[in-house]
Amino acid sequence: MAIRNIVQQGDDVLRKKCFEVTAFDEKLAALLDDMKDTVRREEGAGLAAPQVGILRRAVVVDVDEGFYELVNPVIVAQKGEQTGWEGCLSVRGKRGIVTRPQTVKVEYFDRGGKKRKLTAHGFFARAVCHELDHLDGVLYVDRAERVERVKD
Ligand code: ZN
Repeated sequence: MAIRNIVQQGDDVLRKKCFEVTAFDEKLAALLDDMKDTVRREEGAGLAAPQVGILRRAVVVDVDEGFYELVNPVIVAQKGEQTGWEGCLSVRGKRGIVTRPQTVKVEYFDRGGKKRKLTAHGFFARAVCHELDHLDGVLYVDRAERVERVKD
């Protein structure tokens, strides 16, 4: 396990569409373990593989509801709306107001290749949507109605 460097806004890797994970192997397990270590160290709510320079459809989400690893995740249903502040470990020193669904249903695979689903509400849903955007090269600043500087 290891802490990986987090890519910052301006790097092309954050703007690319990620490839599906096809091998549920030790390399994927190591990536997910490293992402867990990295997001915990940075006290983030989540991290997507392109943020550590890997163009694969894998994210981790670490919120009050628990720690989740989502491989090849897809939002299959969404409901409602919430508007609030959001930040990103790849966009240091800023935060923005973003509108997201209040509830999302997600289908995904776990690290062993087993198909799973979850329903996320509130901040959990916001974190899931934010991380899934990264897999398509989208940053929250693209969706924000307002962005302001904050102290790191
Ligand atoms: Zn982010």
